[in-house]
Amino acid sequence: MTKQTISEWAAVKKSKIDNKGMFATKDIPKGTLIIEYAGTRLTKAQSEKRADEIIDEAKNKFGKADSVYIFELNKRYDVDGSPLWNTARYINHSCDPNCESDIIKGKIWVKSIRDIKKGEELSYDYGYDIDEYEDHPCKCGASKCVGYIVSQDDWEKLKRRLARKRLKRMQKN
Ligand SMILES: [Zn+2]
Repeated sequence: MTKQTISEWAAVKKSKIDNKGMFATKDIPKGTLIIEYAGTRLTKAQSEKRADEIIDEAKNKFGKADSVYIFELNKRYDVDGSPLWNTARYINHSCDPNCESDIIKGKIWVKSIRDIKKGEELSYDYGYDIDEYEDHPCKCGASKCVGYIVSQDDWEKLKRRLARKRLKRMQKN
């Protein structure tokens, strides 16, 4: 069995955002490589197949799409981070994240983008596109939370969609 990845900076604990999360066990300076996002390396073809499998399995089991823990490594490979020994999979999404992913020498790292205080929960932008946003409500609790797990690049699009939906509802009443 593969050994659980660990970080000298953070540990898994219960989270208000989603069951479990990763929390700083000491003050973390900006720019720190906190933990590797480890997993199984897949070619693009394998990765597409795997993503479809994960979504189908989850839809059969829970009636909706589950999280897909696949990260783009480069043009040829992705990393499937769903194995439970990949501790970084517990890091939650936030609309006001304190980390980002960074690819260094063929490895994906979770890196702090600001100073993080001991006890703070780690988070990054999952970068989901806007398709099926309704399957991914966000509970990050940030004051600027947009309500769904959607990449910040798509926030303008999301806000327009939500506004259109509200308008439709008002017209119905
Ligand atoms: Zn949020």
